[in-house]
Amino acid sequence: MPIPLESNHHTDATMKNFSFFSLLIAAVLTLSGCATNEITGRSQVTFGSEDSLIAETAQMYAAMKNDYAAKRALVTGPQKTRVEAITNRVIEQAVKYRPDSALWDWEVIVINSKVPNAFAMPGGKMGINTGLINMASDDEIAQVMGHEIGHALGKHGLEKRTTGMGAGLVASIGGALLGQSGVPMGQEAISLGAAGFIAAPNSRTAEAEADRFGIELAAAAGYEPKAAVTLWQKMAADGGPEQKGFLDTHPTSSERIAALNALVAPMEQLRTARTGAVAAPLAPPAKGKKPAAKPLSVVARMPAPYDWLNGPKAMRPRSNAPALQLYRAQ
Ligand SMILES: [Zn+2]
Repeated sequence: MPIPLESNHHTDATMKNFSFFSLLIAAVLTLSGCATNEITGRSQVTFGSEDSLIAETAQMYAAMKNDYAAKRALVTGPQKTRVEAITNRVIEQAVKYRPDSALWDWEVIVINSKVPNAFAMPGGKMGINTGLINMASDDEIAQVMGHEIGHALGKHGLEKRTTGMGAGLVASIGGALLGQSGVPMGQEAISLGAAGFIAAPNSRTAEAEADRFGIELAAAAGYEPKAAVTLWQKMAADGGPEQKGFLDTHPTSSERIAALNALVAPMEQLRTARTGAVAAPLAPPAKGKKPAAKPLSVVARMPAPYDWLNGPKAMRPRSNAPALQLYRAQ
């Protein structure tokens, strides 16, 4: 509802400020809306469009990447190859949940930092620190990337920008791209805006949603659901009071671990249904017999996915096999 403004008198500075503030509120009320998320069915209050946020955060991501490159903190080689291989598998599933995301400019960087952290911006621009890679198995990395991609699929960035407006997040986004005088600001300021956006926490609801997205996307991609539980247990064990990063925005809690634990069995069923995997026999080999060769992991036996991170955009497969479900507690 617009707030009526008086225009004739009240020319003192206080009233001018009040009028400006009222106009701002009116603009926010006009531009924000309530929409039902097509995947989760949850009603979300959002400000502005996802497309414009994707464009803004892509600029931030580019500036941040330049920053890390200048500091020689962008990691290539085996660690990048490992992360890309896992992330490609998770993206292959993600586009089934949101077909429009098949046209996103998906990208992942590996950052040389001891801080265990990872992020995904709206539009699929991602990053993960070596500090997290070095403590995690492939299955656990799939859970991390699945969780972050879940935030992007669920439009959580748009939500956190809306709810974070009071905390100055809008200033960090809009202000990072255009200075107060309307002149575009430097790369350093934009890069700082990116850091601010990544560090702004999501709501507990969004976190729980991303956990469910993550474990399901990873399971559909052939990764072990129980890795979601071991990942958070490792994070809880590793996080001293001085540790910053993922734990700042992702507090581990017994509720979080219990909620994921309850999803392990149904997600294992989903993994088996999607991959045709058969559980390895538990009985030890009979005496005198050679032990059976260690079976290849489920992921290694799956056909290679399309390379969403490096492959040509025009060649991207069109999904005609939509996702079966997004898991909801029964
Ligand atoms: Zn999260």
